[in-house]
Amino acid sequence: MAHLDKAALRGIFRYRPQALPASEDPAAPPSDLRRIRWRRFSADPARMTAIYIGGGLLWVLGGDPLLSAWLAGAELSPMLGPLANALLITASGGLLYRLLSVQVETTRRAHLVQDTRLAEFIEMIVDMAFIKDREGRYLLFNSAGARLAGKPLAECLGQDDRALFPADMALKRMAADRQVIANGHPLNREDTFDIGGERRILQSTQWPYRDADDRIIGVVGIARDITARKQADERSWRARDELESRVRARTAELVTANRTLERLIAARVQTEIALRDSEERFRQLAEHIREVFWVYGIVEERLLYVSPAYEEIWGRAVRNFQERPLDWLEAVHPDDRPRIQAAHTAKLESGRLDEEYRIVRPDGTIRWIWDRGFPIRDAAGHVYRIAGLAEDITARKLAEDQLRRQQVELAKMSRLSLAVELASNLAHELNQPLAAIVAYTQACLTLLREDTADPRELTGTLEEVVNQGLRAGGIIRHLRGLVQKHPAAQTEIDLNALIRAVIHYAQLELRQADITVRLELTEPLPAILADDMQIQLVVLYLVRNAIEAMQDTDDAPRELLLRTTPLDTGTVHATVRDSGPGFGPEVLERLFQPFFTTKSAGMGLGLSVSRSLIESQGGQLWATPNQPDRGVSFHFSLPVYTHYR
Ligand code: ADP
Repeated sequence: MAHLDKAALRGIFRYRPQALPASEDPAAPPSDLRRIRWRRFSADPARMTAIYIGGGLLWVLGGDPLLSAWLAGAELSPMLGPLANALLITASGGLLYRLLSVQVETTRRAHLVQDTRLAEFIEMIVDMAFIKDREGRYLLFNSAGARLAGKPLAECLGQDDRALFPADMALKRMAADRQVIANGHPLNREDTFDIGGERRILQSTQWPYRDADDRIIGVVGIARDITARKQADERSWRARDELESRVRARTAELVTANRTLERLIAARVQTEIALRDSEERFRQLAEHIREVFWVYGIVEERLLYVSPAYEEIWGRAVRNFQERPLDWLEAVHPDDRPRIQAAHTAKLESGRLDEEYRIVRPDGTIRWIWDRGFPIRDAAGHVYRIAGLAEDITARKLAEDQLRRQQVELAKMSRLSLAVELASNLAHELNQPLAAIVAYTQACLTLLREDTADPRELTGTLEEVVNQGLRAGGIIRHLRGLVQKHPAAQTEIDLNALIRAVIHYAQLELRQADITVRLELTEPLPAILADDMQIQLVVLYLVRNAIEAMQDTDDAPRELLLRTTPLDTGTVHATVRDSGPGFGPEVLERLFQPFFTTKSAGMGLGLSVSRSLIESQGGQLWATPNQPDRGVSFHFSLPVYTHYR
């Protein structure tokens, strides 16, 4: 690119270079040029006018053949060499001359300038554009400026701002002009003026207007009315502020909502986990317990859940419930069914169930069931479900049956023991007199043989006496033999278990007598060496006596205490203590005597038999009055099993 004389150009326009984005306009200058000012006024390239500076060149494009030629020459200049440069400089000089020639000091000359291409160009600028002389008079002005001043364009030329604009505005603008002229620098400013009663904002750029000798001869400028844009900006700022504040408020709301949501989600997740855990726990529990766990829905009028143990106990499929809701009842033993049917109906009212019944399994076997139901209430306290457990108690029932059979045996045994004891006592009581009878009878017989009495009369009688006596003796021997043939079968015994069994056996009597049983059984307790049945019998006698004694008391609380403690290394001590009326010293003395009783229907043998049974097994039985409490305590001791091994 050829260089024109910069100084020649500087006199016309000295723009502050601005880097603008490369235009896509086909008429735009080559991209390697630095564009200063570019405005397209017409779509017709022939009518297009533009000014820009690139590489030190001033370019003016337009319909003017001279300018166009200059442009063409400029573009060709690199090929043409120094001659072309000379031509271009000449052309530039011509252009400058032409431009500068329109700059006159007077209104007349200004009118002439208006006729020039420059005036046309300025006219086409949509903003106020002007050239002023050093005194601030408009040498060149355009219609946009005149419109702002509210005067015809012709009236404006040759005038200064004071004649065109309000005083304060004129003052400011002219002061700015003076500043540009004084320091030679461009000036950019934004001012707010009151023009024709309207608030206007002007954005203006002024720069020095220089002659060929670089002397400042005036001011060139453009002023744009940016009021509308500012207002639009302000509106958009306000809108943006408002939007921003709304966004901020909304964001705050969202943050709060988000936090709440997060908390809710966290709580929900927590609950779900807890629920899953509890469901899992429930499932594991319900599906692994041996009892049938069931849930009945009152509203649904059917079983909502039956645990898998049903299939094991009932021997029927859980899925049967889908078609036959009363599947479980169908299996109930015909003898129990009416009762259980009624209990089932009652359960729907009370929410409770506590029944024992038999079921007949498909293979014909019978199982005993203990079925319990408990109400489940909603928040309002209404029973809406019943949860229950059906337990297979067949084994327990069998054990009870066995115990009952044992009790019958025990009763038989107790009668036998009583008989044995009775016989033993009778033998002791009757043996001597019978022996005497036999001796006397034999003496009589001797006398008779000596003929001192009527032999036939006495003989028959005395023989009868002897026979009776001998028969009695025979009976006694026989009974003694029985006692000897029934020795205690001593084995290793858990006394605590034995006591529990006896209490179980006597539970009906205890309940009927409204007696509270308290067990203080030391665990573990050394095993004792004794005859199981005989010790059961002793404990039973003592418990029965206690029950009978307490039945006589009607005011005081009735309590039966059974206690076991190891007495020393070789002995275990048991106590049966009641809260009955007790007895005085006279009774205490005779307590263990056979046939001593204070009861109308008593035999007075229980304690004496008990004592001999305990003593026959190496133990002791004794009684102590409870002091200062009511009642009596019976104690017995028995040897420890290991002690004898
Ligand atoms: P029975 O019970 O047939 O009378 P027992 O030998 O068992 O025969 O008892 C003898 C007597 O001892 C009873 O009649 C009763 O007077 C007294 N006796 C036994 N146990 C108690 C007791 N726990 N409290 C008060 N008196 C008792």
